[in-house]
Amino acid sequence: MIYKTLGKTGLRVSIIGFGASPLGGEFGPVDLEQGQRAVDYAIDQGINYFDVAPYYGRTLAETRLGRYLEGKRDTILLTSKACRYDITDFEFSAKRVMRSIEDSLRRLRTDYLDVYQIHDVEYAPRKQVVGDALPAMFKLKEQGKVRFVGVTGYPLTPLKEIAETEDVDTVLTYCRYNLMDTTMDDILAPVIRRRGIALINASPLHMRVLTDKGAPSWHPAPQRVFETAREVAELCRRRGTTISDLAMQFALAHKDVSMTLVGMSKVRHVEANIRIVGTEADAELLAEVRGMIRPVANIYWKEGLPENDDPGAIDKRTLGMERSDQIKGEQK
Ligand code: NAD
Repeated sequence: MIYKTLGKTGLRVSIIGFGASPLGGEFGPVDLEQGQRAVDYAIDQGINYFDVAPYYGRTLAETRLGRYLEGKRDTILLTSKACRYDITDFEFSAKRVMRSIEDSLRRLRTDYLDVYQIHDVEYAPRKQVVGDALPAMFKLKEQGKVRFVGVTGYPLTPLKEIAETEDVDTVLTYCRYNLMDTTMDDILAPVIRRRGIALINASPLHMRVLTDKGAPSWHPAPQRVFETAREVAELCRRRGTTISDLAMQFALAHKDVSMTLVGMSKVRHVEANIRIVGTEADAELLAEVRGMIRPVANIYWKEGLPENDDPGAIDKRTLGMERSDQIKGEQK
């Protein structure tokens, strides 16, 4: 494993972080024991950063991760989030943040979090994020319940503006730096660099688009993105590699990113992603693939309040409600 410093937090983190949203069934049902094996294997192989949220599986991912990490909590770094609770259920009040952390700590069977993040800042007016939710997070830091404070989201404009003015330790964005979309590099990375904030790049597989299995039904990107990814997957197979290996190599090569957060729930995925650490993409194949992707590259969709839209964002293909229904079915 390779380790990097997580910006001004000074924490040493594995360059691959364990994204726990699949443990909540976000990408389909996950067997309880299978999740345990994936987490155990990841820790054995040196992955030391685990990212979860009450939203993932509507608390299921936190509950499972808490159970999996029992006895190992202090050997790893654990992060969760507040303010997002379902597809359309958000609350950014200070009161809810204070309540939410207690619920997360209980589910995660711990008394502190290493990083606590506002989940998807684009779903609230800026005034509320910086006037209510963020001060509550800083208060938790003073109280020692969390060591560092961060923000997460999809559109880059609000993240960039918050990074410019607020004293946050980490900024996490997803699906904005991978083989399909590299806009994070132009918009967010320069500010992060200047401010010494840790940059966390999530969803290097573009939420499963860049895998042999392909996108889940709820994925918001247009069909032409999925079709191109299928062609790329086929080319990679012919060249004796996989689209996921190439996508991981591409994402891991970004110099300003402290950690790449990939969602995992299976040992074989942890294995594949660890195997790629320290390797470089085949330059010829990468150039060919980027050429194939160019006509559908940097297509990003609207998330959150219209005032937080990135210029040029398209309407989403789906609202993803079916995902919520499926997860609730699994929890019964
Ligand atoms: P991702 O791009 O990491 O893709 C995850 C999917 O790919 C899962 O279905 C997983 O089983 C599969 N996969 C993983 N490794 C694979 C491999 N080697 N080969 C084939 N398939 C593989 O998307 P993600 O899970 O949405 O993002 C990663 C993590 O980042 C999340 O789990 C979450 O912790 C975090 N995240 C945070 C936010 C936020 O805070 N707003 C948003 C998105 C993601």
